[in-house]
This record gives sequence, structure tokens and C-alpha cells, in this order.
Amino acid sequence: MYQAQAYSAAGATAPLAATTIPRRDPTEHDVQIDILFCGICHSDLHSVRDEWNEFAPTVYPIVPGHEIVGRVTNVGSAVKKYKHGDLVGVGCLVDSDGTCHECEAGLEQFCPNRILTYNAPDRHLGGLTFGGYSKSIVVDERFVLRVPANLDLAGAAPLMCAGITTYSPLRHWGVTKGKKVGVVGLGGLGHMGVKIAHALGAHVVVFTTSPNKKEDALRLGADEVVVSRNADEMAKHNDTFNFILDTVSAQHDINSYLNLLARDGNITLVGAPPEGLNVAAFSLIGGRRSLSGSPIGGLRETQEMLDFCGEHNLTADVEVIPIQKVNEAYDRLARSDVKYRFSIDMASLESE
Ligand code: NAP
Ligand code: ZN
Repeated sequence: MYQAQAYSAAGATAPLAATTIPRRDPTEHDVQIDILFCGICHSDLHSVRDEWNEFAPTVYPIVPGHEIVGRVTNVGSAVKKYKHGDLVGVGCLVDSDGTCHECEAGLEQFCPNRILTYNAPDRHLGGLTFGGYSKSIVVDERFVLRVPANLDLAGAAPLMCAGITTYSPLRHWGVTKGKKVGVVGLGGLGHMGVKIAHALGAHVVVFTTSPNKKEDALRLGADEVVVSRNADEMAKHNDTFNFILDTVSAQHDINSYLNLLARDGNITLVGAPPEGLNVAAFSLIGGRRSLSGSPIGGLRETQEMLDFCGEHNLTADVEVIPIQKVNEAYDRLARSDVKYRFSIDMASLESE
């Protein structure tokens, strides 16, 4: 075991502050990674502030961060895929049982024994897992991803969560050329959803509550932008969408989007507001529409997404910050004031 520098929060109203955390010495299957960048996902904010208390209560202290990129510094004797110096990523998962039918299908995100990167039982050291707001991490090689060499690292970090969480449902629901696809909310997930849906060839329409994001949405790959508070603009799209990806992090009117779906259209929630959403039965019944959800993605698909992003040169639009600005960044993220993902430059930990 060794000690690593990190940032943690001691409670739901406490700021994140410098600390040191234990990390295990690499076992034979482990990869030790020097973390270069870590994205700030809205899930980090929900977790740190214990907003999901009803479903997944936070245990403190918490070290968040599941959008990790870094360089391999050490590997265990049985590690085959990685070597010292490789550029790698770690997302929301660091372990699973590897034997259940979900794991066998490459769908580790559904494994009943999956272990999340932070705030989940740590099978090695006891206590809870600590995430990527830290200098280094030690992860089983099965949960380490290869980062294409052409990608900017600060912008590649958010692919580990925002990238896979949008790629997976877009692929699952058959988004291709000729499909009309909506993306609701232009934040970290939303802007990756736009880039990926555009790269898949779809006709992409962004729904935003922020009129000042219109130009950006078009630049990011949207074909049209609708300010969702404008009922007339919304009504023009009634009954026309094959698929809508809803990334909104707070309570909102889901029925106004259900009504935009064509027959047999689907809306998938990836946004995880703590409050429930009120669904009108008639919004679903009329067009035989469906409403579903989707969590992150499995390891195989995450690597596929990274390779896809490598081929299309897709990364997140990031504002790089030193870790000392993380609390300010959380306040701004809560106000949707980020274009479009904060990425923490972990070298800044050295000045602690
Ligand atoms: P984010 O960067 O804050 O983006 C959320 C966007 O939602 C905002 O930029 C804003 O877009 C819109 N929005 C915020 N408040 C709103 C409100 N009251 N009404 C309507 N629209 C609102 O967050 P993120 O990191 O993309 O994460 C989004 C959600 O996905 C979070 O709940 C997060 O926990 C969840 N998440 C889920 C998974 C999964 O596996 N399913 C993975 C990662 C994250 P506009 O300004 O364009 O309106
Ligand atoms: Zn996330």
C-alpha cells in the first residue's frame, strides 16, 4: 500500500480539499496509472452533494472522478495488454465478477457485482473506492482502456463517461444516416451526444434551455437548434423523431419530448435527476412510443467508442482547470456554466 495525493469532500456541504488516500500496490493483474487529466461529470456533483441519497447514498470522505486518462507507470507480472508508458483511460467501472452472463456478454455495467470507480466497496483495501481526483490509481487491466494516440488528452478524459454514456444508447437504438435524432441539454453528455450522433450520420436537433448555446450547438454538429422554452418551436417537430437522448440533470417536462417522437420512436434517459419525472400515459400510447434509460457502457463498447473517437478525431470541448479551482467549477456546473466539460490538470496537485 502507498499514499497518493487527492482531493476529497468530508460531507455534503463541505468543499473538496487536499488529502492523501491509500492505494494498493499493484497485484499481478493490476495496472498502476499516473493520472494526467480527470473530467468533472455532473454525477460527481450529485454524489459529492449527496443529491442521490434516496438511491445511492454517499459515504464520506468521497474522492470523485471517473473520467480518467493517464500514463502507465507500473504493471503486474500477469498483465498482457499494457506496458510502462502507455496512454490509458479508466471510466466508471473498476471491477466486476467476470463470470455472470452480463460480464460474459461484455455488459459489465449490468453485473450485479460491478464496482464503481468511487464510493463503492473496495475489495482490496476495504472501505470504499476512491476516484480520479488524485495523483495515481491502480486498476485491474480488464478495466483499463487504450486511448488513441491522436486525441488531445484533456479532451479525451471525458470520453470515459460522457463519451460512452452517449455512444452506447445511440448505437443500441440504431442511430445512423437518415435518422432524426434529438439531444436534450447541451452539457458535458449532451455535447458529446451531438458530436457522436453527427459522426454516425444522423440529422441532429439540439434542445436547449440556453439560447446563448445556439451557435455552439451548430458548430458541434447539430443541424437544428430548438430553444425548448419556446412551445411553437417545439410543436414544429411533433411526431418526427426516431430517437431522443435526454441528458438533463434536473426535473423537466418529459412529455413535451415524448410528443416529438414519431411512431415507435424512443426517448432514452441518460440524465439522472434526483427527482421523479411525471409521464403522461397518452404521450406514450398514441404513437406506440417508448421511454427507456441507459447506464454508461461495457468495457468492449467503451474501447469501440474510443477507437471511433480516434478515427473521427472526437474529443470533448474542455475548460482545463487546476484542481485548486474544483469548488468554483462545481458551482459553475450547477448553473450550466461550462463549455462543455471541466477537465482537471492533475499536475496541479503537485503544488499542494
Ligand atoms: P451537465 O454538463 O450539467 O449538463 C446538463 C445539461 O442539462 C445542462 O447543460 C443544461 O443544458 C440542461 N439542464 C440543466 N438543468 C436543467 C433544467 N432545470 N431544466 C432543463 N434543462 C436543464 O451534466 P452532465 O455531466 O452532462 O450530466 C447530465 C446528467 O447525466 C446528470 O444527471 C448526470 O448525473 C447524468 N449521468 C448519467 C450517466 C449514465 O450512466 N446514465 C452517466 C453520466 C452522467 P442546456 O443549458 O442546454 O439546457
Ligand atoms: Zn459520469
